[in-house]
Amino acid sequence: MRTACTGIVWFRQDLRLSDNPALREASRTCDRIVPVYIHAPGEAGRWSPGGASRWWLHHSLARLDEGLRKLDSRLVIRTTSSSADEILSLARAAGADCIYWNRLYDPASIQRDTRIAQILQAGGHRVETFSASLLNEPWTALNRQGRPYRVFTPYWKACLEAGIERAILPGPRKLARVPDAIHSVTLERLGLVPTVGWAREMRGAWQPGESAARRRLKHFLDVSLTDYDVRRDIPSVDGTSRLSPYLHHGEISPAQIAGAVLERLASAKDARMSGGAEGLLRELGWREFGYHLLYHFPHTTDRPLDDRFAHFPWSKRFREPLRAWQQGRTGIPIVDAGMRQLWRIGWMHNRVRMIVASFLTKNLLIPWQEGARWFWDTLVDADLASNTLGWQWIAGCGADAAPYFRIFNPVTQGRRFDPEGRYVRQWVPEIAHLPDRHVHTPWQAPDDVLRKGGVTLGRSYPLPLIELRISRERALQRYAAMKNSSRHAT
Ligand code: FAD
Repeated sequence: MRTACTGIVWFRQDLRLSDNPALREASRTCDRIVPVYIHAPGEAGRWSPGGASRWWLHHSLARLDEGLRKLDSRLVIRTTSSSADEILSLARAAGADCIYWNRLYDPASIQRDTRIAQILQAGGHRVETFSASLLNEPWTALNRQGRPYRVFTPYWKACLEAGIERAILPGPRKLARVPDAIHSVTLERLGLVPTVGWAREMRGAWQPGESAARRRLKHFLDVSLTDYDVRRDIPSVDGTSRLSPYLHHGEISPAQIAGAVLERLASAKDARMSGGAEGLLRELGWREFGYHLLYHFPHTTDRPLDDRFAHFPWSKRFREPLRAWQQGRTGIPIVDAGMRQLWRIGWMHNRVRMIVASFLTKNLLIPWQEGARWFWDTLVDADLASNTLGWQWIAGCGADAAPYFRIFNPVTQGRRFDPEGRYVRQWVPEIAHLPDRHVHTPWQAPDDVLRKGGVTLGRSYPLPLIELRISRERALQRYAAMKNSSRHAT
């Protein structure tokens, strides 16, 4: 007679029931499953989740537990300084034979998971791990020399050639009850929600959870996919998917998104759809590229990929300007709008992320790591792979980086992508009544226009922190100096 088999499914950044290979395999092979989430922030080192991500995580775990309860199961939550100890003790208590999880790719998780797998296997347990958060494992695409790609276009071409369509796995219909003897701490014990009122606006802006992710995807497919290519750069419109926090926490998989996009494309009558679909898939490709780089160059979370930048002469005294940037009071409207959107809803439009990052690293000459840190703490989609890629790309020191001398002019960018100042007016209300002509350059507005618009520069809205043309020249000089010194060093 076959003995009943028990499996543990260790949830991490895969907080969903559908298209979850670890859960699928466990429910296929085990009679009983213990779903567990282990909170061990110390194990992530410098990159344990920031404030906004923790807020999201709290709600996402609550939704996952609700989903499991509908199947008669529940989420066991544990908090610990050692995931290894916790899993081992849970495996003993539950009499589990096998432990299932979906893989993570950041350096700290790879190290920890490898160690835990060894400990479990040495103790006689079976460990099965799966790919669930990427279309391609980061080690699969390599160039002709067998090395990792450093340029996006050939990387993505190789991925498309290998194929990006994946079968989508259904979620379980029913799960066996988790015995009462298996204890769980309450979600509140994890202390993920901030005690100050900071998250109030985030609650209105977002609904974490798997069902909300699916609704968001449907909304995007119905409303924005066709014109995605055209509208994705306009920050005042709802033109992008806003799926990034769901993807980061694994409430939806990239395969589910790519599959749904390809399905729409196949049934589309509108020829514009192909541009939108290709564009969206390419952005998912950038996400994959970030993981490819993080996997092959794990040091880039803190250090530049391009070694020449290791000695870049960044500004040394930057506490004050950094604070002004963080608080959205630089006096450059599109930068301030972005930074305030970030603070208030934990998300910023991609075009504006590029503008604020360029302003920080080039006009203010503040190290990109400072910007990456702030984003890490304030973004609901903070993701080590995408954040590192984004910051190094803008700073000019990463893979496929924009050349350093290409410095975004925030005024030109504002006028081009927010011509009527709608985005700026929404997030910087103190200049909302300036006419379109001056909304991106209040410091150039005549006195009577400022008076009529209710703006007193330096009082109701700051004067620019820095002169854009002069700071651009200064950045170019520093870059030239760095290039010369690295040339002499070789
Ligand atoms: P959509 O336009 O709908 O794109 C669909 C999905 O593709 C996104 O959800 C995201 O997963 C992926 N994607 C889109 N653009 C990029 C990109 N440039 N790089 C990598 N993946 C992309 N994204 C994060 O998810 N987390 C971060 O921490 C992060 N930090 C960034 C920092 C900087 C300085 C910059 C310039 C970009 C950063 N991005 C980050 C990438 C990008 O800004 C966001 O993924 C995007 O704005 C999310 O909005 P969306 O879901 O509406 O995107």
